[in-house]
Order: sequence, then C-alpha cells, then structure tokens
Amino acid sequence: MTEYRLGILKGDDIGLEIVPVAVKVLQSAVERYKDIKINWVELPIGYPSYLETGETLPVKTLSKLYELDGWILGPIGHMAYPQNDPKAVNPHPILRKKFDLVSNIRPAKSYPFISSLHKEVDVVIIRENNEGFQPDRNMHKGLGEFMPTPDLALSVRVITKRNSEMAARAAFEIARQRNGMKKVSAIHKNTVFKLGCGLFIDTCREVAKEFPDISFETVVVDTFAMKLAMRPQNFDVVVTTNMFGDILTDLAAGLVGGLGMAPGLCVGPHYVMAQATHGSAPDIAGKQIANPYAMIMSAQMLLSWLGNQKGDISAIQASEDIVLGVEKVLNELRLVTPDLGGEASTEEMGTAICEAIKSMA
Ligand code: ATP
Repeated sequence: MTEYRLGILKGDDIGLEIVPVAVKVLQSAVERYKDIKINWVELPIGYPSYLETGETLPVKTLSKLYELDGWILGPIGHMAYPQNDPKAVNPHPILRKKFDLVSNIRPAKSYPFISSLHKEVDVVIIRENNEGFQPDRNMHKGLGEFMPTPDLALSVRVITKRNSEMAARAAFEIARQRNGMKKVSAIHKNTVFKLGCGLFIDTCREVAKEFPDISFETVVVDTFAMKLAMRPQNFDVVVTTNMFGDILTDLAAGLVGGLGMAPGLCVGPHYVMAQATHGSAPDIAGKQIANPYAMIMSAQMLLSWLGNQKGDISAIQASEDIVLGVEKVLNELRLVTPDLGGEASTEEMGTAICEAIKSMA
C-alpha cells in the first residue's frame, strides 16, 4: 500500500468552492485502487485563516507542509488583505520560494465541445517560477523593486543558470513523456536582454543536448505571442522565464476557453504544489458558478507527478482515470459551468466527474 500525505489549503473566494470539489474528484479516483491511499491534512491559509488565527500563512501551516508529499493550494485573493498588517502576507510567492518550486507547469488544452478560439490545442508551458522580474520572490532578502527617488522606480530581473536549467529539464522530460510532437520551444528576448535571456537560452541549449530525441527551437517572445495566438497547434512544450510565462499562460488559457480551463503544478526537487493559473475571482465567489476544471486538473497533475516520482502505477492510472472522467463530462454529458456555456453549478460539475470516474470499467 502506498500512502500519500496531501495538504488541502483552500485559499480565498472561489477556492472555498473549487478546492473541496478537486479533493472529492481525487479521492473518487484513488478509492478504486486497493494499493493506494491518500491521507488528507487540511491546513489554514489565506483570509479565512487570518480571521481565525491572525495570520494568512501561519507558522504551523508552513511547518506541516514540510512533512507532506504535496498539497493543493486554492487561489489567493491577497489584494483584499489588510495592507498594513505584516501578518497579512501574500502566501503563494512565499510557498513557491520556500519550497523551491522552481518550475510552474501550465497546460492549455481545447475540448471539441467547449467553445474556444482554437481547436486541437494541446500545449504545456513551463514557466520559471521564482526569479525573473517578480520582486516578491526574486531576492534572498528584501524586494527586487525599489524607488531611489519618488519619481524613479527600478525593477530588477534575476536569471540564474540553476533555475533556468531546472525549468528546461522539466520541459524536456515532459516532452519526452507526452504523446506530442516531441518538441520544446524556448521563449526569450535575447535580442534586448542579452545577458539575462542570453543565459536562459544558452542553458536551455545545453540541456537540449541531453535530449537528442526531442527537437528544440528558440522563439523571440513577441513573435511567439503572435504565433501562439494564430496557430497554437504548432507548439508542444514551451519553456520560458517568469514574467513572459505569467503573461503567455493566461494568453494560452484564453485560447482554450478562459481561466477556468487553466490548471497548473508548481514543482521543485523536493516538493510539489497543485495551483491553478487563475486568481481567486472574487467577482463570482459564493455563487457556485466557478469552473472547477482548472483546480481538478491541477490536482490530477499532482497525483500523476507523484505517481511518476514513486513509480506507482496505480497512482498514474488513477490520474489518467480523472482525465477520462473529465473528458466524459466535457465531451459527452456537457455538464459544465456558465463560463463554458453550461448551467451546471461548481458542485454539479464536480459530482458528474466523480460519477464518471466511479462508473468506469
Ligand atoms: P490574479 O492576479 O490573482 O491571478 P486575476 O486578476 O488574473 O487574479 P482572476 O481572479 O483570475 O483575476 O479572475 C479573472 C477573471 O476570470 C474574472 O472575471 C473571473 O471571474 C474569471 N475566472 C477566474 N477563474 C475562474 C473560474 N475558475 N471559473 C470561472 N471564471 C473564472
């Protein structure tokens, strides 16, 4: 029996609705296999935690995470936190940094009956997660953004060989595992950022030599944005730096039906965190209309990742069952939330996926 200890961190706003659904789906998939078990550990985080404990990221939550195999993090609505309280921190950059979650894997996939700008899209973007322009996590101490005078702002961009190499390696490994074009595209702007993007691309090229079975190309970011918008089917696996990846993954989500269709996984050498691409969507929170797809598929990626790490066939199979259950609900039953043109509630869509999994041969 392989046991997984997984954390449940619901986050804010729609997180309170979509995370329980993702947990239910994962549990339904795993229950069908006698040799795997998930021990769930729910931990406080975000604004509900602030109201309860006075902290958005309690020390107890942090220390518990070190004992887990992985966790599901719901979206965080940090913009609504009290601005002047040092205990009301934005938890997710801290988690990404503290647990060395260097690679953020964000797939974008279209479904035949879900209205989208493009069909037959199946692309995975890997974004370096902890450096680049993101000032809340690109320094050891302090912030990567400062104002020497009231009318001058400086934002420092950090690129390291280590993180570039880890993101590139994750991209090549994913390209090798997938039934795709076996191609990695590295996105950069070394025409301008000669040192930063230069180091990133040179590192990708070095990693590419270890994967002779995977073809490799480099594309300048502005050209890539145009190509992705026009013909996303030409891309398989994409790797890029933090800010470019942040923007391009939302663009990719927009091509396949919107942010509700954008799952994500943050991975590092020791820890893994399921986190959807979208934010906490306060505008639709509490209405049971949030699309749970992104959160469910983030959890599916978590299970698949752990299964592959541990060579656990049942976990891999259970994660594939989730893919099939989701496909059945999206392609056949069409029980989807309003953002996808349906009338199902968040819970109804989740329950339909659980039922589809349970009824599989
Ligand atoms: P952040 O900066 O934290 O990523 P954001 O500003 O990009 O957040 P979101 O909270 O992601 O904003 O929401 C952007 C839009 O997408 C909102 O109109 C929201 O309702 C919609 N949206 C986001 N997630 C979902 C979802 N799961 N289902 C349906 N609509 C969603």
